[in-house]
Amino acid sequence: MQHDDDYYSLYQKREKVQNKHVNGFFQTIRRVTLYVTLAWFFLAPWITYHHRQAIWFDIPARKFYVFFVTFWPQDFFLLSWAIIVAVLALFFVTNFAGRIWCGYACPQTAWTRCFMWVEYLVEGDRRARLKLDKNPWAANTIIRRTIKHSWWLFFSFYTALTFVGYFTPIRELAPDILHGNVDPWSLFFVGLFTFGTYYNAGWMREQLCIHLCPYARLQGAMFDDDTLAIAYDHSRGEKRGPRQRGDDYKSSGLGDCINCQQCVHVCPTGIDIRDGLQLACIGCACCVDVCDAVMDKVGYPRGLIRYTTENTLNQKKTRILRPRFIATGILLVIMASLLSYTLLTRKPLKLDVLHERAQLYRTLHNGDIQNVYKLKLMNLSQQTQQYRLSVGGLPHLQYTGSREAVLRAGEIKVIPVSVELGPDQIPRAFNTIHFTAKALGTKDEQVTTTSRFIGPMSKGESHE
Ligand code: SF4
Ligand code: SF4
Repeated sequence: MQHDDDYYSLYQKREKVQNKHVNGFFQTIRRVTLYVTLAWFFLAPWITYHHRQAIWFDIPARKFYVFFVTFWPQDFFLLSWAIIVAVLALFFVTNFAGRIWCGYACPQTAWTRCFMWVEYLVEGDRRARLKLDKNPWAANTIIRRTIKHSWWLFFSFYTALTFVGYFTPIRELAPDILHGNVDPWSLFFVGLFTFGTYYNAGWMREQLCIHLCPYARLQGAMFDDDTLAIAYDHSRGEKRGPRQRGDDYKSSGLGDCINCQQCVHVCPTGIDIRDGLQLACIGCACCVDVCDAVMDKVGYPRGLIRYTTENTLNQKKTRILRPRFIATGILLVIMASLLSYTLLTRKPLKLDVLHERAQLYRTLHNGDIQNVYKLKLMNLSQQTQQYRLSVGGLPHLQYTGSREAVLRAGEIKVIPVSVELGPDQIPRAFNTIHFTAKALGTKDEQVTTTSRFIGPMSKGESHE
């Protein structure tokens, strides 16, 4: 390894971004979305529905509760389907409005923003923080940084506790943690997520967006020249440069950009939007707000940096309805409608019928033909339920076995039953019959499952 002055790394060293605080129209919208996101995240696990946590991912029992819907292991396809709908929605929104998710709703952006806000309150704005950076061992720096990191850790811990509370009932977890009476796994995960939040939002920040986030890498596939994105208006801004107030700057070839660098100083990822659309831009609109404020100050029209499309900047017409946008929209509506329909019409019970394999049928002493089955009944509702069982599909079927069963929420019961038929009443060797389980006390909650009633072969028939 070289250690002389000629040595240089192929990796660019990270430069710490100390961005300036900014207010403005888009920051107000971001603040509102941030409050809504945080409020939902922190309050949702405390909501109770039917005497249990409304949103609870009960991994040991392999059940996910989301208010009135329960996802069972066999509903895994519904979860995968919901993820596909979410990805399509993200694709659709991104194709229309660019990285609006990153700037306004992404948890990484939201939590980083909270951490930056604490930093701003404790250490001051950009200039004050740069000053602290220069004197890392001064008493003032140490005190402020200790306060800042304590708040970060507290917030990270509270975030981790809430997150783990989606998997372990939070009303039990929170008091247990406070009394130091928690199981080692919950403690491990609270610790892990505390560290993860602190590290991601406090230290990694924009690096996670730039280097780790797969969504940022997929931008190229989602963007087109009609996608709304934050951009600097080159034709209006250039040539950039300082000027005196009241100067006829246009006659000296200058554009509207006074090169004040404010857009760079407010950028949380430390880029210069005037260099064009970049992977590192998270669409936070800080540069839009600060540049509008600068334009107001110098008396130029707002919008030098704004939400616009590549086509508009190139003096071309922007189309809202273009093939990719329409196709994604139609696909999204179809998939979301089918998912909603499946969820809303899903029966909260399941009945599987297993015909005895060892013996297809047996002949009883009175000559009747008997088939034996196992009825596997599953209560997928969220309360104890009583069911009535019946058989149909052929006249004169005689059912032997439990006609009623009581199952707790989530319980599965296997009920052995048999069906008999007189030899003269069997039309053919293989006959379709059906078993029905009806939830008592409900209007039409019932499922019917078909099976076979097998009898002796007549000439020309086969059991194969
Ligand atoms: S904030 Fe506006 S005026 Fe100032 S450098 Fe950026 S683009 Fe130019
Ligand atoms: S360039 Fe502008 S919109 Fe993009 S991350 Fe920086 S400040 Fe935010």
